[in-house]
Amino acid sequence: MIKLSIDGREVEVEPGTTVLEAAATLGIDIPHYCYHPDIGVDGNCRICLVEVNGNTDKLAIGCKFPCGEGMEVETESEAVVKARKGVMEFLLINHPLDCTICDQAGECPLQDYSYHYGTGDSRFAEKKRNKPKHVEFSEKVMFDAERCILCTRCTRFFEEVRDCRPIGVENMGGKSTITTGPNGPIQDPYQMNIIDICPVGALTSRDFRFKQRVWFMDFADTVCPGCSKGCNITAGSYQGKLLRFVPRRNTEVNASWMCDDGRLSYDKYNMPERVRGASVSGDPASFDAARAKITELVGDGQGVAVLASTSQTSEELFAVREWARTARVRDLWHGERTWESDDFLKQADATPNTAGAQALGYASVPSQAPELRGLIVVGDVDVPPALLANLDFLIQQAPQAGELGEAAVVLLPGRNALEKNGHWTNGDGAVQEVRAARDPGPDVPEDWTIWRDLAGVSWTSIAEITKAMGAVSTADAEAVTAS
Ligand code: SF4
Ligand code: SF4
Repeated sequence: MIKLSIDGREVEVEPGTTVLEAAATLGIDIPHYCYHPDIGVDGNCRICLVEVNGNTDKLAIGCKFPCGEGMEVETESEAVVKARKGVMEFLLINHPLDCTICDQAGECPLQDYSYHYGTGDSRFAEKKRNKPKHVEFSEKVMFDAERCILCTRCTRFFEEVRDCRPIGVENMGGKSTITTGPNGPIQDPYQMNIIDICPVGALTSRDFRFKQRVWFMDFADTVCPGCSKGCNITAGSYQGKLLRFVPRRNTEVNASWMCDDGRLSYDKYNMPERVRGASVSGDPASFDAARAKITELVGDGQGVAVLASTSQTSEELFAVREWARTARVRDLWHGERTWESDDFLKQADATPNTAGAQALGYASVPSQAPELRGLIVVGDVDVPPALLANLDFLIQQAPQAGELGEAAVVLLPGRNALEKNGHWTNGDGAVQEVRAARDPGPDVPEDWTIWRDLAGVSWTSIAEITKAMGAVSTADAEAVTAS
């Protein structure tokens, strides 16, 4: 281990640790643009300058400078503060005054660093350089060349993370710009990650552009329900309507990335058309009446099976299992839904909690399913047609009824994957906390309460069920240090 001091505070780090990384362990945030923890060091932006061993003539870049034994680093010395002001002044020389119309405003490191480390004024009397402002990099990404500070995070993302070069730097000096060159529109299915890592508003999402100011939005840290990878995300909404998903850094699961399909799936969880309240035989009914009907239909549980979605949380599945135990329903099955996987994040299992369901004893539907008297469908699940043959009754509890709803004797509402709290277990076994990003309203109670009431259990919170299951979150996301 190497011992050094940063701003007078001692720290011990592994050999090879950079000054920027060592400072972060002390909670000292050295400003940076081109450095990103999940792509390599480049050292081009120079905003991370630090003073090492009192050398004020030759400041070092913290993102690349390795820690040494006995080193004394200053991140706020007079020389550093002056140099940072100079770097900010250069970065802003040609940067347009776009903040009032820029999607990045409110979450822009250029704004933040300008406020914290800039001079507050400019000595630049010449005309700012004009560059193209609406360059369609693809159907998903828009580029504004004037706002770009040429940190090259975007080009290095493709080169280092995706092993391709759909964009690059063209020209030299003040004429330098990012371009797709002769390649045509970017095709990569993970391309929208460059929007998140662009430290200014040069790369914007054509989907989210001009939809809402981020300071008016609500945010929930949760998990993408798109597949069994379980990428950590932050879901953004405005007045209860989901407007975007962005990845949240978790080095154990998805680093700082997510696929474009998962990212752009947010709108389907807004669900204007959905099941609200309970109904029996197609007529609105009280939840008491629906429960009484379920108890009557299920009877002694013989010939009745549960088919549950693997988008349900483990707590919800546990509550269903508890009811099934009291109702003597023995067959607990889980649904399956697949899509095309890739060699990066996307998994073939297009649901988030198959592992959690299996850990609770839910099995795949047997190829030779027994003849059923009744089927209870829980959550958003594809039902094999063979299970529906010769049924006396169907009970459905789901956010949307689909075609099954018409056949259901009892229909109960359900919360969708962005409206749930609890845990999902991803395909690698990481138990991850899921938090609701929107509230569908009082006529859509939390799923677990429906099964708790049916089972006659006294749980009063999700936390009680989590405790009863012995589940723990093993993959809490780290804060994104460089978005
Ligand atoms: S577009 Fe953004 S990420 Fe790419 S070089 Fe410019 S500032 Fe950096
Ligand atoms: S890889 Fe899967 S979990 Fe990750 S963003 Fe895509 S769909 Fe969502």
